[in-house]
Amino acid sequence: MSQPHLDTSPPVSDEVRKTTCYMCACRCGINVHLKGGKVAYIEGNRDHPVNKGVLCAKGSAGIMQVNAPSRLRAPLKRVGPRGSGEFEEITWDEALATAVSWLKPLRETAPEKLAFFTGRDQSQSFTGWWAQQFGTPNFAAHGGFCSVNMAAAGIYTMGGAFWEFGQPDWDHTKLFILFGVAEDHDSNPIKMGIGRLKARGARIVGVNPIRSGYNAVADDWLGITPGTDGLLILSLVHELLRAGKIDVDYLSRYTNAPVLVNGDPKSPDYGLFLRDDAGKPLVIDRATGKLAPFDQPGLRPDLAASHRHAGVTHRPVMHLLAERYLDPQYAPEAVADRCGIPAAKIRALAAEIAHTAFDAPVVLEREWTDFRGELHKTMTGRPVAFHAMRGISAHSNGFQTARALHLLQILLGAVETPGGMRFKPPYPKPATAHPKPHCKVTPGAPLDGPHLGYVQGPEDLCLKDDGTAARIDKAFTWENPMSAHGLMHMVISNAHAGDPYRIDTLFLYMANMSWNSSMNTGGVMKMLTDTDANGDYVIPRIIYSDAYSSEMVAYADLILPDTTYLERHDCISLLDRPISEADGAGDAIRWPVVQPDRDVRGFQSVLLDLGARLGLPGMVNADGSARYADYADYIVNHERKPGIGPLAGWRTGDKGLTHGRGLPNAAQLDEYIANGGFFVAHVPDDAAYFKPWNRAYQDWAVSMGFYDKPEPYLFQLYVEPLRRFQLAAEGHGTRQPPDHLRERIKTTLDPLPVWYAPFEDGHADPEEFPIHALTQRPMAMYHSWGTQNAWLRQIHGVNPLYVPTALWRRHGFAEGDWAQVTSMHGTITVPVAHMAALNENTVWTWNAIGKRKGAWALDEQAQEAEMGFLLNHLIHELLPPRGDGLRWSNADPVTGQAAWFDLRVKIEKVPAPAQSQPAYPPIASPVGKGPGKLTWKVGQ
Ligand code: SF4
Repeated sequence: MSQPHLDTSPPVSDEVRKTTCYMCACRCGINVHLKGGKVAYIEGNRDHPVNKGVLCAKGSAGIMQVNAPSRLRAPLKRVGPRGSGEFEEITWDEALATAVSWLKPLRETAPEKLAFFTGRDQSQSFTGWWAQQFGTPNFAAHGGFCSVNMAAAGIYTMGGAFWEFGQPDWDHTKLFILFGVAEDHDSNPIKMGIGRLKARGARIVGVNPIRSGYNAVADDWLGITPGTDGLLILSLVHELLRAGKIDVDYLSRYTNAPVLVNGDPKSPDYGLFLRDDAGKPLVIDRATGKLAPFDQPGLRPDLAASHRHAGVTHRPVMHLLAERYLDPQYAPEAVADRCGIPAAKIRALAAEIAHTAFDAPVVLEREWTDFRGELHKTMTGRPVAFHAMRGISAHSNGFQTARALHLLQILLGAVETPGGMRFKPPYPKPATAHPKPHCKVTPGAPLDGPHLGYVQGPEDLCLKDDGTAARIDKAFTWENPMSAHGLMHMVISNAHAGDPYRIDTLFLYMANMSWNSSMNTGGVMKMLTDTDANGDYVIPRIIYSDAYSSEMVAYADLILPDTTYLERHDCISLLDRPISEADGAGDAIRWPVVQPDRDVRGFQSVLLDLGARLGLPGMVNADGSARYADYADYIVNHERKPGIGPLAGWRTGDKGLTHGRGLPNAAQLDEYIANGGFFVAHVPDDAAYFKPWNRAYQDWAVSMGFYDKPEPYLFQLYVEPLRRFQLAAEGHGTRQPPDHLRERIKTTLDPLPVWYAPFEDGHADPEEFPIHALTQRPMAMYHSWGTQNAWLRQIHGVNPLYVPTALWRRHGFAEGDWAQVTSMHGTITVPVAHMAALNENTVWTWNAIGKRKGAWALDEQAQEAEMGFLLNHLIHELLPPRGDGLRWSNADPVTGQAAWFDLRVKIEKVPAPAQSQPAYPPIASPVGKGPGKLTWKVGQ
């Protein structure tokens, strides 16, 4: 028999360039295959620490992103009314001269009149520095409307959080429990990790109202009622305490469980720690029965003993904790109905956690020395790992819910121990090692320090002398004192209201604020186009930068077109959100693997150019010339402090190349490119666990430049800064909250995790609005970028409202039906679909699929514009007026995180309309429309 010769692997490219994916925020390494200088194919980089060769649907569809018809082509100046989408192309010189003419007077007279906010970009240490040099206090990125509750709760409690700052110990975990995790954040790493767990026979439990994605492959699923995760977690804590299944040794050594707390309600220090003269929290030494600072060499802290001092009884945190959570209000029977989980199921989960943690510990034969000088022969851990994300955090009780989850992890001794959660360098890093927020404005000069940070008490709030907010988003005020990432979702609303003051220029980057990134989308469009009595726009000027013709473009006056991610330099920095794994500190670059074929420029290079034209310190030389040619030049040569730059790899040392600390190296980017676009420094074996207390890790971290000196610390089961705000609300101290916020601060800023009902439950009548409504992001989409991608649209081109079985039957729905969905704030009319694996009182849809007609170069009859929809229309950025006429933001009261998932609705079956409602008039497209059929052959 003769067989035809088939070439099953024809070469797809004539060159491969290695860079970092940006089709979502996970930062996988990719090999970009080029043919004739064009992108032919993208595959995963097998050597890369994040994805080890794995590539997802989004990553491979990057080829359609770099060729998308919606790409902006040149700078644009608005010529029609705002919101019309009518623009004319201008030169970069004109665009930059226009921006300078707007910004220069502001810098010289009132820098706060510039509000500069960025979306999901990965250059926040750079953009924040730029804003600081400009002098405005009004800078933040998108964390406030994403997951700041996770980040802030993690950092205040244990000096690190999930995802970028922490991960499960995939090699040793035996039980992995996910709370509220959708499918996009930490996408490839979690998929790979779950694969490894399944291969080892480890158990996976998903807690989520919706059983899709990771929850669909879990061994067990708890379809919890939205907003009640904190209650479920505290019930697990109750059960573990009742059974004595907590790691007492770990708690006494590494947490503030033994720290003594003032118990005198009349004392101005009530609820604060007893400290020595050096300010160190005090515990009682079990050996001597005497007071000792927590870090005294050889100390064995006592979890049980109280201490009477100056007529006041001080009790250890452990007493307060046990007292609170052993209360019957946290018993499984007491919380079952509210959580939608049977009491027996809660008990069974608690028993499974206890059994895995304490009957099957992981013991690694590795010696290590702790910060008190004690040598440990082994590293012993509790193999229960948790992961959580936006599902539990995007609620008005999200901060305390995330705190409750960390409390549970710590009680088990399952953080930074084998089998538990592990931090990724440069974490762990306690809240006290982070900067505090700065807001002091001086015309013509930089701000007095970094914008964002971790407050320790009322004295750190960003308030003006008259007590009003210093920032346009009212971050770090009594309304949300610990808003560590700012409140981007309040900027437009506050700027429109002139509350706390009026601004002149709103400068946004990569944030689709007139569509899927805002609550109250229709209202925001109106705010952006509103005029005053003189006919001038209420928000006078808007500058926007993006790579694509998103819905936000139509609402700007000046467009600075960005490149796509394959045409630019980027720096995924250890100063920011790096690519580290628990066993290694890593950073990465993007570099122009293809050249733009349009008149566009990388936004960060444009920002440096603008900075030089404005004469911003650090961006100009002594003679006034530009200090950096572009962002690549900045990445290589900028030093945040001597020896510390944006990239840690291949710096210059005394004896040649060095990593971590070192002088700039002109060939640094070449080294990264030669290494596949990334750098990794491995954590030494004896430093791999117990990092906050491990001398070997602390010394290694200092050598890498993460700290200037070892910074061992205790996990904060009891967060004292929260208590300082409560004390102020009780009337202590000179900086006092307004009266209308006192009760709320007392209730919600509890130093021990607490659960309270989501705020919308107290406003929306549960009889009238009995259903919870959520969104999730799918694995194959990343925000609005993905929903215009020609390949990805074929996976998720529509987003029906998924309805659980009982509701489906009660309303008599059939496939193809439509429903009217109504909240306190608005109404939408949308297609429905049946889904059985769903909490019985919850409906949901995919996020950001719906498009405005005219945007993204899509056809006006595209299914995303006809059938697609947003839940955003149902959610207001403010809660309804209270009795006193005041309105609170629809956000967590501690951090200000947008409470997207508090939404309650009612639904009814309605006749099918011509298209989903509300429908807005089409906007003119500054880039025209894409072809009906997108086909081409690379290299021809
Ligand atoms: S998970 Fe994200 S970063 Fe990784 S390949 Fe997919 S889209 Fe790219």
